[in-house]
Amino acid sequence: MRSGSPRIFVSYSACKQPGCLCQAARDSTVRLLETTGCEPVVDQLFLEPGEPWHPRILREMLTCDAAVILLSEHALESKYVHEEAIVCRLLAEYSDGRFAILPVLIPPATRARLKESPLGAVELTDLQMAQWESEQISPPPALKQAVGDLQLWHRVLPEPRIYEVVSKHVGQAHRHAIEDAAAMLELPPTRWLRHLPDLVAVELLKERLVETKADPLRLAMKRLLPTVPADGRRELIERVVPFARIPTETARQLRHIAGQPTARIAAIQAAHPLTPLLYLRRASDFHHVWAHFEPSPGSPGNFAADLVSQIREFLVDTVSFGVPCTAQELDELLHQHEDEDGPIAIVIRFGIDVELRDRLCREFPTVLFLYVEDHRAQEDQLSVRTLAPAQESALIRTYNELCRKFGGQA
Ligand SMILES: [Zn+2]
Repeated sequence: MRSGSPRIFVSYSACKQPGCLCQAARDSTVRLLETTGCEPVVDQLFLEPGEPWHPRILREMLTCDAAVILLSEHALESKYVHEEAIVCRLLAEYSDGRFAILPVLIPPATRARLKESPLGAVELTDLQMAQWESEQISPPPALKQAVGDLQLWHRVLPEPRIYEVVSKHVGQAHRHAIEDAAAMLELPPTRWLRHLPDLVAVELLKERLVETKADPLRLAMKRLLPTVPADGRRELIERVVPFARIPTETARQLRHIAGQPTARIAAIQAAHPLTPLLYLRRASDFHHVWAHFEPSPGSPGNFAADLVSQIREFLVDTVSFGVPCTAQELDELLHQHEDEDGPIAIVIRFGIDVELRDRLCREFPTVLFLYVEDHRAQEDQLSVRTLAPAQESALIRTYNELCRKFGGQA
């Protein structure tokens, strides 16, 4: 899947016979592509008068994601359509099916006529073909559906790196499991089975904050996970569950706070010990969760100094990999880590006073401090949108169930 609008080449016969559907079909196909958010690529739009026909068309076709081939009676006899159809077949073959071919039969052309024509050798009849109705001006529903699907795979994904991982793991599940999961997630039937894992991945990452009785997320994951290779199951759960069950808004707020120059302090309410970690997973737009550490309250007599030294030790270990470093080196390594791997979070669950909070911020200005309070705390102190208790339960329940049954632990 590539991001952006899909470029779709339109191959047609340039016949100008009055009453013939060739031009009407081309024009309404171009309109369909435009209104669906695709970019139509039609020779009239890019060829300058006198420009050599073939090299330019071939170059344009190489930049396309798909082609609509309008198979009218005249197109069957056109040597250009014939050549373009051969190029389409090559592109489809070369891209392992990623280049999609959408043939449309336009009456009075028939399948039988197509097979007999010079185009017969290109074997377009192997492909699913839409059929234009003789009196229709608008494209057939099968073409609309196919173009809609193409647009779907190419839309800009909000979290491309999370999506890549989820899509990869879904793609390794058994074909039947993927098809069943698609049905559970209420995806419409598609002719593009090769792209089904991509579509399922997008659907799994959709926000579903409440666990419903026949919860599509839970059911689809339970159907998929047994056939995902064992080493990928845990990662699939880790990516999908926080993504679906924690609001996008929360992730946005945490990223914003973690990106501030200083005073990177966030507060959430949580009842379950796993919740803060899942918030950090949701906030990370990297493949991995942000590096994080939960210090212990330490000795009462030496509380503040002990906390500072625990955090420092963790930072040195995380960014310098246990190699001792000076304060300046640590600072540089922290910046490098932030650029390459995201922010570092310190999760604190015990109460500390404002003075100590300020001290921690001064000591570690580039670290995100995530203070966890229970649900009885004052609402107005919270800096990020927190799940309601029932939503938090849904998050933890789904996560633990999938981890225990398929992920090996938790
Ligand atoms: Zn015609």
